[in-house]
Amino acid sequence: MKVLLVEDDPELAQGVARFLRGQGDEIVHLADGMQADQLLQTDAFDFALIDVGLPGLGGYEIVRRIRNRGQGLPVILITARDALDDRIYGLDVGADDYLPKPFQLAELTARMRAVLRRGGRSEPRNVLSFGPLNLDLEGRLASLDRQPMALTAREWDLLEALVAADGRTVPKEKLQAEASGNAVEVYVSRLRPRLEAAGLKIRTVRGFGYRLESTVCGKGDAD
Ligand code: CA
Repeated sequence: MKVLLVEDDPELAQGVARFLRGQGDEIVHLADGMQADQLLQTDAFDFALIDVGLPGLGGYEIVRRIRNRGQGLPVILITARDALDDRIYGLDVGADDYLPKPFQLAELTARMRAVLRRGGRSEPRNVLSFGPLNLDLEGRLASLDRQPMALTAREWDLLEALVAADGRTVPKEKLQAEASGNAVEVYVSRLRPRLEAAGLKIRTVRGFGYRLESTVCGKGDAD
């Protein structure tokens, strides 16, 4: 499999890379977190091993961005920190497992196999998107332009209906049901300025309903 190894300790990186290559894996090694984040947006990998303490961008943030983009890539975080809090935090941000340093290479591969056996997240997560807006339906996580977007439950329901319609008009009655009691207009007017900053617009279709539009070219798939 094609494995991305992000580790700034050259000795450790070399040891891991040599061991995995010996097992027939293809290893891409980077020592800088920012470069890793960029590569993960353009290249497909089967597995990622990511150090927590990295120059450029830390391991937790790399994993958070992977999950915000809806990428199902299996990830093990590697770190010198072995406090329980860090471990929980690492799993919270979306890592599949956590390996404290120092570790035996045999333990690393055993954990990798375990993650893959569990199915890891090899199936892409259930994500709805419209341009720069992504809704992770399993995790109920919204992101806009790769930044987490906090939504109330009603805002989420409305947005989910609009994104699922993929640019088609959603009847106002359907949205009104999602808004449960309150006026749809209230939620729409709250969401509008937030979406407009990212080039998305909730257009009113008079007498019928609302639809999501991109104010930039295409559907906002600038990337
Ligand atoms: Ca490090």
